[in-house]
Amino acid sequence: MKLATIARNGQHRLGVWTEAGIVDVAAALQHRRDRRGEDVPTDVMALIAAGTGGLDALRSFLDDLARLDNEGAPWLIAEQDAVFAPCVPRPQKIVCVGLNYRKHAEETGAAIPEVPVLFSKFPNALAGHRNDIELPETSEKVDYEAELAVVIGRRARNVAKERALEYVFGYCPANDLSARDLQLRTSQWLLGKSLDGFAPIGPYLVTADEVGDPNRLGIRCRVNGELRQNSNTADMIFKCDELISYISRHMTLEPGDVVLTGTPEGVVLGLPPERQIYLRPGDVVEIEIEKLGTLQNRLVAPRRRE
Ligand code: ZN
Repeated sequence: MKLATIARNGQHRLGVWTEAGIVDVAAALQHRRDRRGEDVPTDVMALIAAGTGGLDALRSFLDDLARLDNEGAPWLIAEQDAVFAPCVPRPQKIVCVGLNYRKHAEETGAAIPEVPVLFSKFPNALAGHRNDIELPETSEKVDYEAELAVVIGRRARNVAKERALEYVFGYCPANDLSARDLQLRTSQWLLGKSLDGFAPIGPYLVTADEVGDPNRLGIRCRVNGELRQNSNTADMIFKCDELISYISRHMTLEPGDVVLTGTPEGVVLGLPPERQIYLRPGDVVEIEIEKLGTLQNRLVAPRRRE
């Protein structure tokens, strides 16, 4: 299933992609109150927390719904009209992996890591598909990073690599936006990584059953239509299963936690200094991952505030 969080009527609602349009699950339940409504989650976080039971209830409800005449149904939203919020709106943790593709480590002049390099973003950094992202007044060097995001489905603590993918709920495209001047000002990258809106994810959270092997997905970044990054998750130094296992040996991963798995080569930072042109107002960045779709965001000038 392809799950979205849709902003509608002042609320964040669980949306599910279908051929006919995105189903607003809460709106559909209102019209089908006679059905098994009670156990169908209406929020992505609740759905993840409910485990396979939640997915089964949702799937069965959608199957029933598909048998109805859906033409013009009030619970259907055309994809082009949908206002997307982050597909995982309230993770407890966003754990990021740095320098996880060999050529990216090389282009930045960093050593190839012998263990995963971990850092974090906070939920203030989340943004949804097609949300505008403000360039901060405090940075001149905002860069893109196409990344595969792994979303945890079950509490993971001390998990063996062989079983790690069983703990995954799904995957989505992510852009690990990075203010290089702030990131590299001190030894800790946090400031340059967790600015407001610097972790757009989506459009959809795609359940693991539809993705199969996460270590074999094409991953691309385009800026204003120009291809900047073009790689495959097979080139990761530490693969998804290794990462989950490694992190879970140090901290418990909770359902809904998001792991950004690192970016391939082709970022602005990796270019010779005379060719480095960082993101500017009006630039549109697209992150495309095979089987997961394309995340698109426009950078905008900083807004004045008190
Ligand atoms: Zn990154």
